[in-house]
Amino acid sequence: MHIQEFQKMMCKLYFHRDTARGVTGTYDWLVDEVRELGEALESNDKVAQEKEFADVVAWLASLANITNINLEKAALGKYDNKCPKCRRSPCECAF
Ligand SMILES: [Zn+2]
Repeated sequence: MHIQEFQKMMCKLYFHRDTARGVTGTYDWLVDEVRELGEALESNDKVAQEKEFADVVAWLASLANITNINLEKAALGKYDNKCPKCRRSPCECAF
């Protein structure tokens, strides 16, 4: 499954609810899920980490749907097999 297909699946499942919640409310959920991912990373619980990664991707797709952003186009447009800053692969930017 490609990013675009995942985004379309999330649209089919949740667009009506995401639209009703709105951009700010959906963004707030995404932030909560990122916070939960941070907590899972500290736990070393791989099952919990996997679940939180899934939630972050799902809420990111929801937010992209209601803001009419094509995640795959945006991601691959910016990260097209090279670092967008140094234009190298792998990245050679200084830390
Ligand atoms: Zn770089």
